[in-house]
Amino acid sequence: MKILVTGGAGFIGSNFLHYYAKKHDDYEIVCLDDLTYAGNFNNIIDLVKDKKIRFVKGNIVDRKFVFDLFKKEHFDLVINFAAESHVTNSIDYPDVFFMTNVIGTQVLLDASRKYKVARFHQVSTDEVYGSLELDDDVTKFVETSPLKGSTPYSASKASADLLCLAYYHTYNYPITISRCSNNYGYYQFPEKLIPLVINNVLNNKKVPVHGLGEHIRDWIFVDDHIRGIELVLEKGKLGEIYNFCGDREIPTIEIVNCILEKMGKNPKEWIDNVPDRLNNDKKYSIDSTKAMKELGWKRETEFEDGIDKTISWYTEHKDWLDAITSGDYQNVYDDWRWSK
Ligand code: NAD
Repeated sequence: MKILVTGGAGFIGSNFLHYYAKKHDDYEIVCLDDLTYAGNFNNIIDLVKDKKIRFVKGNIVDRKFVFDLFKKEHFDLVINFAAESHVTNSIDYPDVFFMTNVIGTQVLLDASRKYKVARFHQVSTDEVYGSLELDDDVTKFVETSPLKGSTPYSASKASADLLCLAYYHTYNYPITISRCSNNYGYYQFPEKLIPLVINNVLNNKKVPVHGLGEHIRDWIFVDDHIRGIELVLEKGKLGEIYNFCGDREIPTIEIVNCILEKMGKNPKEWIDNVPDRLNNDKKYSIDSTKAMKELGWKRETEFEDGIDKTISWYTEHKDWLDAITSGDYQNVYDDWRWSK
C-alpha cells in the first residue's frame, strides 16, 4: 500500500503521519508539502530520518509537478490535508486560499483519476456549514445540511468539497470527505488560539482576544480526529461525508481563561481585548452521530484531559515554539537536505 499525505508538515497532517506511520509500518508513506509559513519540517523530521516516511517538497497547485509525481509513484491512496487554514489570513489574501484549497484540490483529483489512485480522502471542516446565532442551542449541522460558509476560508473549503463530490458523481471517482470541528493538540502553529495563548504566557506576553471573546467553537483533541479519518478510510462509504466533533462547545474567552488559570496567571491581568476580525462567525455546532453509528467512532479524550496534555507538551517543547518565533524552523528542511 502506497499512500500520499499532502500537507503533512502542518498541524493535523503531522499528527496523522506520526500515528499512521507507527500503526502501519508496512505501508509506504509519502508526504507532499510546500512548507509554507505554516508547514514545519521539525514536525516530521524524525519520521523522515528514521525512514518511516519519505518527504517531497512541492506545491499541489503545480499541475506538471503533481502529475509527474503521481506518474512516478503509483499511489493507492491520497489524503489531502494541504490547505491554507488560517481564517484571518483568508480575509486579507483570499486568492491564496482559492489557489491552494480549490485549484490544488482539483489538481490532486485530476492526477488521482488519471493515474488510477484507488481512493481520495478530503479533509474538510465544520466551517463549511456556516455560523449559528450565539443563543441557538438547538441546531447542530449534519452532513446533509446546506453549505453556507461565509468566510473566504470556509467558502474555499466548501468549494473543494463540492469538487470532490462532483468527481464522485460525474466520473464515479472514489472519494470520501471528513468535516471536523476545531482541533487542538501537539504541533499546532502558534497563530491558532490554544498554542498562541500558551506561547504568549511562556514568553511573558499578554493574550489578544478578539472582541469580547464570546464566539463559540467546538473543540476536539487532534488524536480523535485522526482516528476518525482512519475509520473513514477503513469503513467509510464512497461518496459520503462524515462529521467529527468534540461535543465541547466553548466560548473563546473561556478557553483563554482556562489556559491562563492552569498556567497560574490571572486572566484579568493577561488579556488584551483587540478589535474583532471581519465577519467573525459566531458559533459552529455539528453532529457526529453518523460517524458513531456507521463507523463505530467514539471520542476518547475529554477536553479537561486534552488541554492538560496540550499545555504540558508546549511547555516541555518550548524549543519547538522558539524555533517558530525566531523563524529558524524555516531553515530545518534545507539544513536536513544539505546534510544528506
Ligand atoms: P496547517 O495550516 O497547520 O497545515 C497546512 C499544511 O499544508 C502546511 O504544512 C502547509 O505547508 C501545507 N500547504 C499549504 N499550501 C500548500 C500547497 N499549495 N501545496 C502543498 N502544501 C501546502 O493546517 P491544519 O490545521 O493542519 O489543517 C489541515 C487540514 O485540516 C486543512 O485542510 C484544514 O482545512 C482542515 N481542518 C483543520 C481544522 C483545525 O482545527 N486546524 C479543523 C477542521 C479541518
